[in-house]
Amino acid sequence: MESYKIQQHLYDVIVVGAGGAGLRATFGLAEKGLKAACITKVFPTRSHTVAAQGGISAALGNMGEDDWRFHFYDTVKGGDWLGDQDAIEYMCKHAPEAVIELEHYGVPFSRTEEGKIYQRPFGGMTTHYGKGTAQRTCAAADRTGHAILHTLYQQALAHDATFFVEYFAIDLIFDEEGVCRGVLALDLNEGTLHFFRGQAVVLATGGYGRAYFSATSAHTCTGDGGGMVLRAGLALQDMEFVQFHPTGIYGAGCLITEGVRGEGGFLTNSDGERFMERYAPNAKDLASRDVVSRAMTIEIREGRGVGEHKDHIFLNLMHLGPEVIHERLPGIAESARIFAGVDVTKEPIPVLPTVHYNMGGIPTNYHGEVVQKRGDDVDAIVPGLFAIGEAACVSVHGGNRLGSNSLLDLVVFGRAVAHRCAELIEPGAAHKDLPTNVLDKSLARFDALRNADGGTPTAQIRMAMQRTMQKDAAVFRTGETLAEGKQKISEVFDMFQDVKVSDRSLVWNSDLVETLELSNLLAQAVATMHSAEQRPESRGAHAREDFPERDDANWMKHTLVWVDEAGKSRFDFRPVHMNPMTDEVKAVPPAKRVY
Ligand SMILES: Cc1cc2nc3c(=O)[nH]c(=O)nc-3n(C[C@H](O)[C@H](O)[C@H](O)COP(=O)(O)OP(=O)(O)OC[C@H]3O[C@@H](n4cnc5c(N)ncnc54)[C@H](O)[C@@H]3O)c2cc1C
Repeated sequence: MESYKIQQHLYDVIVVGAGGAGLRATFGLAEKGLKAACITKVFPTRSHTVAAQGGISAALGNMGEDDWRFHFYDTVKGGDWLGDQDAIEYMCKHAPEAVIELEHYGVPFSRTEEGKIYQRPFGGMTTHYGKGTAQRTCAAADRTGHAILHTLYQQALAHDATFFVEYFAIDLIFDEEGVCRGVLALDLNEGTLHFFRGQAVVLATGGYGRAYFSATSAHTCTGDGGGMVLRAGLALQDMEFVQFHPTGIYGAGCLITEGVRGEGGFLTNSDGERFMERYAPNAKDLASRDVVSRAMTIEIREGRGVGEHKDHIFLNLMHLGPEVIHERLPGIAESARIFAGVDVTKEPIPVLPTVHYNMGGIPTNYHGEVVQKRGDDVDAIVPGLFAIGEAACVSVHGGNRLGSNSLLDLVVFGRAVAHRCAELIEPGAAHKDLPTNVLDKSLARFDALRNADGGTPTAQIRMAMQRTMQKDAAVFRTGETLAEGKQKISEVFDMFQDVKVSDRSLVWNSDLVETLELSNLLAQAVATMHSAEQRPESRGAHAREDFPERDDANWMKHTLVWVDEAGKSRFDFRPVHMNPMTDEVKAVPPAKRVY
């Protein structure tokens, strides 16, 4: 093995990721007087958060009555009772102040007539515990993520935090006692290796949507944080819960925001019927995402899809008129024109359910501390390791995330992590001496992949993985398709033994980086398929045709999954936190989820 020269950097806290979650944490840490470094593989404002369209939820009540307790209820129900109610309470209660804070930082929200933050209705968001429709989603036209990410980056620049841009984090580094002490990273531009040491590491690396063939997420959403966590021998949680967004553009996969239906858009089948009225008589097109995606899939299956192959659905917004479209939905008008060749003021948009969000991820408590099950302690903290944003599973979204709750999750828990680190870490504290061989295992793996000389190119393995996931871990699942999927994904995992990396250099070696990313994706593809196979019930986004009912007696629990180096999985469970933290809000007891 080549002997690599390693540059060492000492910080109080290392944040990996500069999306909404990572940026909010980074400047929060700096604000608290901690020396923070933020490592990111893409330029901060190119993180996937920039693509968020519809908005961020908070019970501000700017456009009709609202209360954070209604938001709490909706989120528990939306997650099909798999969300931890203490964490959900924390998020919904802190939502209004988090959004006002964003406004003060400079996010250019759309406005009401009186100059208040504009709020639109979103799926599953109600008032009075399901009785009314809430207008709760705060929007900057249909470019809310763009507005938020740029504002957060400006705030980060205003604080004393250091950015390492276009650095790829390879592995977490732990000491002998299992305390996380830093990350090994590659400077993509210089081709040099760096050991970033901190008293804590915060993973804010986003989702792993790219395990699937058709996803709304960016090509950089490769779940690197989850991959590093699995390699460290830690478990991920609830990986079977993958959200399909009802309205990805047919063929292209790009997202058309739920805000379109929030503004009055609706879906039709080949009979021109507004079929959601049959599936969700009250909420109709604004039922939660899993419900709408399943309804669309059934319509297509039963022969009522549109188009030449009857394999998609129409989203209509012509009736809203050019003025509303221009003011509130300019971005999607552009996307529809470019990616579907459609003028939305005159024709419907062809759409199809598309992978959009990972409810599962790195298990944490509501401080963002990573937790694992150790013996009887089901919430044992992994010292020195935090996770936030889509990479994490707090779990506030349970089995199904409500639209506009993710942007909220980023800022609320990004801030929470900064608070927690300030409590635990003394600025400038000395770093522990580490054994000289602490990086060896990670370096050996890196070197082996860099020199991988098998017969199968990375892109070929990736395609096999994406097609398998798309086919066998889909909107609807059965024991049969999952058993087949499990077999196939294991075969794809094994193909990686034979991977070929053609470029041996270290400077801008995209071949190598894509291979490192694929390795992270593969472990999570296995985790997802295997987790789905072992859960014999239907809950949230996990719809088993052979087990159509939710089984609270046996399965109201979080799945913990380990995937070892050979691609073998192992399972355990953590109980769902069924009680809020305080008596300011009442626990929502499990009930049938109807909209
Ligand atoms: C098209 C689209 C629209 C959406 N619209 C909405 C919406 O309207 N409302 C809502 O609430 N949610 C929405 N979501 C979901 C939400 O936007 C995402 O869940 C959220 O933005 C994820 O943010 P994040 O900070 O966790 O990660 P990301 O924004 O994905 O950022 C990940 C960061 O990690 C870094 N990183 C990753 N791996 C490495 C590595 N190995 N080394 C170094 N750096 C690394 C990247 O460089 C990046 O900076 C949408 C999602 C999509 C895809």
